[in-house]
Amino acid sequence: MVGLSEVVSLYAIHVQGIVQGVGFRPFVFRLAQELQLQGTVANDGRGVHIRLAGTTEQVERFVQKLRSAAPPAARISSLEVEVLAPFETAELELAPGFHILPSTDACSNGNVACAAISPDLATCGDCRAEIFDPANRRFRYPFTNCTNCGPRFTISARIPYDRPNTSMRVFPMCTACRQEYDNPLDRRFHAQPNACPVCGPQLSWHDANGTLLTGDTLSMAAVALQEGAVVAIKGLGGFHLAVDATNNTAVLKLRQRKQRPAKPLAVMVADLATARSYCQITVQEAELLTSAAHPIVLLEVRKTGGLAPTIAPGLGIIGLMLAYTPLHHLLLAEEAAPPALVMTSGNPSDSPICTQNSDALRRLQGLADYFLLHNRDILTRVDDSVLRVMAGAPRLIRRARGYAPAPIVLAQPCANILACGAEMKNTFCIVRNNEAYLSQHIGTLRNTEAFDFYEESIAHLQEVLECTPDRLACDLHPDYLSTRHARRRMLPLCAVQHHHAHALAVMAEYGLDGEVLALILDGAGYGADGTVFGGELYRVTRARYQRLASLAPLPLPGGDQAVAQPWRLALAWLWQYGALGEGDRACPLSTVSLPPALERISPEKRRQISSLLQKNLNCPPCSSAGRLFDAVSALLGLCLYSEYEGQAAMLLEQQASLARPNEKSVLYPVQIDENGSIRRIETSYLCRAVLQDCTAGCSVPAVAWRFHHWLAESWRTAVAQLSRETGLTKILLAGGCMQNKILLEMLVAGLAADGMQVYAGVEVPANDGGISLGQAFYTGDKTCA
Ligand code: ZN
Ligand code: ZN
Ligand code: FE
Repeated sequence: MVGLSEVVSLYAIHVQGIVQGVGFRPFVFRLAQELQLQGTVANDGRGVHIRLAGTTEQVERFVQKLRSAAPPAARISSLEVEVLAPFETAELELAPGFHILPSTDACSNGNVACAAISPDLATCGDCRAEIFDPANRRFRYPFTNCTNCGPRFTISARIPYDRPNTSMRVFPMCTACRQEYDNPLDRRFHAQPNACPVCGPQLSWHDANGTLLTGDTLSMAAVALQEGAVVAIKGLGGFHLAVDATNNTAVLKLRQRKQRPAKPLAVMVADLATARSYCQITVQEAELLTSAAHPIVLLEVRKTGGLAPTIAPGLGIIGLMLAYTPLHHLLLAEEAAPPALVMTSGNPSDSPICTQNSDALRRLQGLADYFLLHNRDILTRVDDSVLRVMAGAPRLIRRARGYAPAPIVLAQPCANILACGAEMKNTFCIVRNNEAYLSQHIGTLRNTEAFDFYEESIAHLQEVLECTPDRLACDLHPDYLSTRHARRRMLPLCAVQHHHAHALAVMAEYGLDGEVLALILDGAGYGADGTVFGGELYRVTRARYQRLASLAPLPLPGGDQAVAQPWRLALAWLWQYGALGEGDRACPLSTVSLPPALERISPEKRRQISSLLQKNLNCPPCSSAGRLFDAVSALLGLCLYSEYEGQAAMLLEQQASLARPNEKSVLYPVQIDENGSIRRIETSYLCRAVLQDCTAGCSVPAVAWRFHHWLAESWRTAVAQLSRETGLTKILLAGGCMQNKILLEMLVAGLAADGMQVYAGVEVPANDGGISLGQAFYTGDKTCA
């Protein structure tokens, strides 16, 4: 008698997700050999297909290992096991042993390509060891990679991910590299960018005018950096501008040339130990820094660490990343190299990061003293990703290198959709089957260069995914360039309200269904009534939203100008409650004197704003939480003029983090007006309390903390009321203000304590970088006009 578990059958296993170009087939091969199973493995446009002869037990063990021991960069989105036939038939079909079959381009699914291209991967430990080993043939070779690491998305023109479809096609492999590439047991088996000093890309070193300089490139670059020069370095997804991060004069020179006086700059160091000397790093943050993506992580900086103070003026956190290409490792290991480098995106202010050598030499002229170039082309721009560990999870703030274009798997299949996003920090999203491909961070779509990058990237991702949209989605805002792009394409189009899209991005990420509450604290978004929204509690389904509560609106004197000049908001806020002591309003606050910060604003300017407000001229009302942050930040004198998006709020958050325990005993009163059609979080008591604290000489950190606490408590109260009324207990948190760690953690803790189930984006940014996913999710459910 043969027991059931000993019956040998032929099985088919289909694996989808990021399983190509990440060493998956060699892994399957080794696993089958280890378990002494007979069969084959092959790639096609849909994924990896395995045939295996074995008992149920053996195959179960194989599948379990397939999931648990997969290569670090692989991401399995689906795995199906099928029993094909009993063993006798199997024997006829399979040659003895285990075999890797050649790839087939053709897709078995009616020509729909399903394979995903892996994001770019940071240099692995094995490759790092090789480039520092004088006996290795790749010693000091800056383009070393293997199936576990190296460029992917940035060098890909289309699928399948094979060398002729990448920018490595112009480098024919030498015999030694070819042998590695062809050997199933080699770490470089089918490593498409495989290269060595004999056959692969090379570095070159140029002066400010682009003239080639000869010598040892790496050591010349290190010396230039040591001497305080600004060096343009061609990287994985674009150029960086680098300077010595411990040399304040050099940092100031870079700031002055880039005309970027205050925006925080990212820093790169060689390894975790060096990172720890500059920053406080938790276990979770260390894992993130050293993950396959090697992103920029926002970390608490050590004051005595020795980084230049002008790297992030006024802030206690910096964006730090570890070296993620062999070039970075080699450069930082040079004897003359500074221990930390500022690595800011290589672009003139507000335009996209440069990728081509000629483009960099032209556009970065006057910014860089030297150029460190190479001849491997970058086929799509990808900036460094940015994450912050908040409320217990690493959350994406800028989703780009190492993350794009990994798909977000949707709970239901959708039509082929292109969602065009909004304006700030923009991304777009392409949906294919049940996978949503959120693009890399594109940036703010306000100039032609950014718009060209946007259109190029759409074309590139459509090509890479072999996907042509048959529906489009955009923001309700008629003037966004992304909306215009959508309208020009003459396809069925859905316009999605900005904050509804924010909420739906979280729903899509968590695969939620049905009806939920959503709290969106944001900069600005076009409201359904044409006014500016941004501090909203919605009741949301995939198809609909209802506004339940909102922040009391604040006038924006001068419209967009008020966004760049927070002092205008401070004045508008005071005027609203009569604290300026003029005009026809009742003056409940007129007995309070103005805080000293506003005395810096000339009487002339103050009169201008008062006049705009009194005549209600170009003062659009705005319920944005971001603008309320701006007003408080300006009242405290932290930020009267904003140089970059979110500056006023970031400075306020930083101050709040400095508040002492005894300063947290005084709380500002929560004030909710329940009489209108929706609930209003009123701010007149808050305004009075802030003014009183300011004039009483209360510390800035105390006021900043109390404001954060007030905002979180106000919404917590409103949510509790509306949860009782609606019976809904799930709440989504989104919008740009959710990048504020103190606010997010207060909200998550408070709402959870009230029994709510709280969801906030992890894979998808809370800021407008997540909007396109929400738009796509909405559109997948709709028949558009
Ligand atoms: Zn490697
Ligand atoms: Zn070679
Ligand atoms: Fe937004």
